[in-house]
Amino acid sequence: MSDLKSLIRTIPDYPKPGIMFRDITTLMSDAQGFKAAIARMAEPFRTEPVDAVAGIEARGFILGGAIADRLGCGFIPIRKKGKLPWKTIGQEYTLEYGVDVVEIHEDAVASGSRILIVDDLIATGGTAEAAVKLIRRSGGHVVAATFIVDLPELGGVKLLAGHGVKSHALMAFEGH
Ligand code: AMP
Repeated sequence: MSDLKSLIRTIPDYPKPGIMFRDITTLMSDAQGFKAAIARMAEPFRTEPVDAVAGIEARGFILGGAIADRLGCGFIPIRKKGKLPWKTIGQEYTLEYGVDVVEIHEDAVASGSRILIVDDLIATGGTAEAAVKLIRRSGGHVVAATFIVDLPELGGVKLLAGHGVKSHALMAFEGH
């Protein structure tokens, strides 16, 4: 995957000192890179039933929409608090400083439906864990979670495994 990895821009000390920000906008603006990333993210799920992709705001929307189209399934947005127009279910998750909330429409997930979670990157796994909880509270089954980038030192993949959720990622970077 070194070809795709070279399309990711690393910005040191953004948004704060010590963080290496893995910027996927440079991959998405490359036509072949974007197409290959979507194809590889969708590939493991072409043979198992997925009823909908749940994308996490905001980069998970761009990737998730394209993956849903590839898989021929629906798309469900998981958004920051206060953005969805209909009745919602909310889930708190912990950030380095304080807490945040993500929400899903209460009727977005059909009971027993098979949902694939999509985001650009997994770090501590807190955001994806909140998505897993929202889908399960909505009555859905989480098929897996898929990302472009994993930061293994931050333990997110292990956190999801502890919830019985398998993660897929196209590449990994050392550090934070
Ligand atoms: P976490 O909840 O810790 O797994 O963080 C994942 C979310 O934060 C994803 O939506 C990422 O887009 C964003 N994120 C966390 N760390 C980074 C990083 N080093 N570079 C780019 N995005 C990041």
